[in-house]
Amino acid sequence: MRFDLPSDGIPTAWFNALPRLPEPLQPPLHPATREPVGPDDLAPLFPMALIEQEVSTAPWVDVPGEVLDILRLWRPTPLVRAERLERELGTPARIYFKDESVSPAGSHKPNTAVAQAFYNKAEGTARLTTETGAGQWGASLAFAAAQYGLECKVYMVRTSYESKPYRRVLMETWGAECVPSPVDDPDSPGSLGLAISDAVADAAGRDDTHYSLGSVLNHVLLHQTVIGLEAREQLALAGEERPDVVIGSCGGGSNLGGIALPFLEDEGVRLLAVEPTSCATLTTGRFDYDYGDTAGLTPLLPMYTLGHDFMPPSIHAGGLRYHGDSPIVSALVRSGRMEAVAAPQTKVFEAAVLFARTQGKVPAPETAHAIRAAVDEALAAKEAGEERVILFNYSGHGFLDLAAYDAYNRGELVDE
Ligand SMILES: *Cc1c(COP(=O)(O)O)cnc(C)c1O
Repeated sequence: MRFDLPSDGIPTAWFNALPRLPEPLQPPLHPATREPVGPDDLAPLFPMALIEQEVSTAPWVDVPGEVLDILRLWRPTPLVRAERLERELGTPARIYFKDESVSPAGSHKPNTAVAQAFYNKAEGTARLTTETGAGQWGASLAFAAAQYGLECKVYMVRTSYESKPYRRVLMETWGAECVPSPVDDPDSPGSLGLAISDAVADAAGRDDTHYSLGSVLNHVLLHQTVIGLEAREQLALAGEERPDVVIGSCGGGSNLGGIALPFLEDEGVRLLAVEPTSCATLTTGRFDYDYGDTAGLTPLLPMYTLGHDFMPPSIHAGGLRYHGDSPIVSALVRSGRMEAVAAPQTKVFEAAVLFARTQGKVPAPETAHAIRAAVDEALAAKEAGEERVILFNYSGHGFLDLAAYDAYNRGELVDE
């Protein structure tokens, strides 16, 4: 029921979606001039290697050996068939999940944190700043920064800073500094957009510092494709020709891109994004150029957006509370190659608890969005009497989200 690759089975090249999109992406625009941004505009924030990856049209990009050395601490990750869940649902579908919760930080996010820290170190950066929502990304970058001896400062959305102290403790244990955001308004609950503004302003103001983003950008999705590349091999080990549907929860789009993009060119494979109804960017947002942050410091990106000043409600899936979406994911949804659905948090937790009681693992609330959709797909297969193959990304564990489970178990969790 578990399909493992050998320890030397980590992909040695990332899958680049850019040259394989239905149409080339529209370029990011400068926030002041609204002209396409060039490498020099981005150089105060990112190392040149990442700026190049952001626009590269090479079909494959080699993973540096120094990155592989660290990914080897937990990769390749397992692919597991959720047979006990299938039996509970009485579905003829076969459900597989790729378990990214086994990383040191407990989610998929270290896959890109390690690569970003490596390229920064290689180009002489001494210090990194970033934002974090629920704390998964901040913890992942703190871990990666420690591996390369970089300083790290994390601006954490204030509601999460106050309600989820354990990820701050993780960040501090890995040697990073973590402060609540927005820094200049202690009464604001904060948002990812505001925290990005804080982190970008810090990096732009110091020569020794670069900024690091945990999702959305092309290079982040590129680094996450190790997930889908491994899963392809593992599905073959399981005797499956191809999945019928590949599912990922979608905040900024990185774990979804990571598992789904390597299946982009496979005909008949549906790709499915799952987002929270309270922050439903792909299903209710408009496609337009918008800022990545609230203050308007970042380039304008072509994406589905709820508006850069959107203040999402404080749902438990903090990692999915972002006003925008990856331009790659947005382009795929717009072209019809990828589908998107939204789920309310009570239905999401219902699926999370079903998964915990059958498969044993307690998922992150973000991950539970993908589980909700996988369960719905399995029930649709039952209805149709079809043996469909469902693959979803188990993006992280929920051991630091037990307060949310407590609320659900007491019947106190409501939909916003
Ligand atoms: C951050 C996070 C997400 C959402 O972010 P994406 O960039 O859309 O992948 C999903 N699951 C977990 C566990 C996360 O930490």
